[in-house]
Amino acid sequence: MKLYNIKENDEQVSFGQAVRQGLGRNQGLFFPSELPKFDDVDALLAEDFVSRSTKILSALIGDELAEDQVNSMVDAAFQFPAPINQVKEGVYALELFHGPTLAFKDFGGRFMAQSLAAVSDGGKITILTATSGDTGAAVAHAFYGMEDINVVILYPKGKISPLQEKLFCTLGKNIHTVAIDGDFDACQSLVKQAFDDAALREEIGLNSANSINISRLMAQICYYFEAASQLTKEQRENLVISVPSGNFGNLTAGLLAKALGLPVKRFIAATNENDTVPRYLETGKWDPKPTVATTSNAMDVSQPNNWPRIEELCQLKGWGLDTLGKGKVSDEQSAESVRELKAQGYLCEPHGAIAYRLLDEQLQEGETGLFLCTAHPAKFKEVVDEILGSDIDLPGPLAKHAAMELLSEDLANDFDLLKDVLRRAQK
Ligand SMILES: *Cc1c(COP(=O)(O)O)cnc(C)c1O
Repeated sequence: MKLYNIKENDEQVSFGQAVRQGLGRNQGLFFPSELPKFDDVDALLAEDFVSRSTKILSALIGDELAEDQVNSMVDAAFQFPAPINQVKEGVYALELFHGPTLAFKDFGGRFMAQSLAAVSDGGKITILTATSGDTGAAVAHAFYGMEDINVVILYPKGKISPLQEKLFCTLGKNIHTVAIDGDFDACQSLVKQAFDDAALREEIGLNSANSINISRLMAQICYYFEAASQLTKEQRENLVISVPSGNFGNLTAGLLAKALGLPVKRFIAATNENDTVPRYLETGKWDPKPTVATTSNAMDVSQPNNWPRIEELCQLKGWGLDTLGKGKVSDEQSAESVRELKAQGYLCEPHGAIAYRLLDEQLQEGETGLFLCTAHPAKFKEVVDEILGSDIDLPGPLAKHAAMELLSEDLANDFDLLKDVLRRAQK
């Protein structure tokens, strides 16, 4: 597999390099130089999740890894299903929360851990990642206990759900969690500074497991195919998919699935009040505002780091950005949609409800709608209970971690202090 740096096109890397490096020069994102295209998508969809995903990922990775190695990686990473669930006539929820940390990021995180192990040159590796919640949990669990890999996770103090915090800040061993005095963008900016520091990067074998890592996006392509495989041929020819978006990795993966041949009529870029992208699609002006805190906090991102990949792909494919559906949903509106879904017999948390609402508004006659449920409702128990006046049950993994002690350290938003933490994590 060959990839190039979107900002500095002459920088070309292999899959292994892209996985190890995360970002290219000048913080440029890597993008595949060539995208395979599946001509017989129906045959591909007839396969089971693991063998189909092996074919997709193998076609992308090419000669660099043998197909049976990719098969064992997929087998180890995708040990849970991605079922669709009808919520009303013509509208389906794609449940991406059946993994160990109950959010879609388990797919990418676990496949990335497999990829990194497969392409490692045996040196020291430090994973540094910023999270607004779910990435941290998925990455922490995916890498927990792996030898020679240290993980440092930054998150905005007090801005993620207490339960989410418990899920990944209680592990210990090679997982170090740091609560930063600032918002998610501040955490992301600290990560960028660390990657800009060549000496530090070298010293500790820095690697990011953010959604900028290409292996995570590649894994996410697979569940779009998995969703389509559960629909009839007629339904999937008129498919509209609504994606609740923060850093826009999930939507990038959906568009890549389409580029590989999955028939998707339209995607909807759904955000909360952090609506940089919907405003951009409306006005053509990129004008991020300060991040605001919402009840769908995994989407509280005003400078989405995967957006350049979407522009690149749309440009390559000749897809006008105006073909993307879009919209933003307020906390009040998403609460309303959580209640509406509950009345239809479906329990959903605010991220999924945002995608549902815009899908429901924009779906046209004869189309089939799919919205991504990115997290288990119990992962946002506080919010969901408040909206519904309920007391929903915690599934096993969450209940176990909720009872454990927090192991995070607090840190000011200061790069020098972070460097100390990174060096200490080596010991
Ligand atoms: C990360 C996350 C999102 C946003 O996904 P992106 O790929 O960053 O756009 C949405 N919902 C939940 C629950 C998440 O954890």
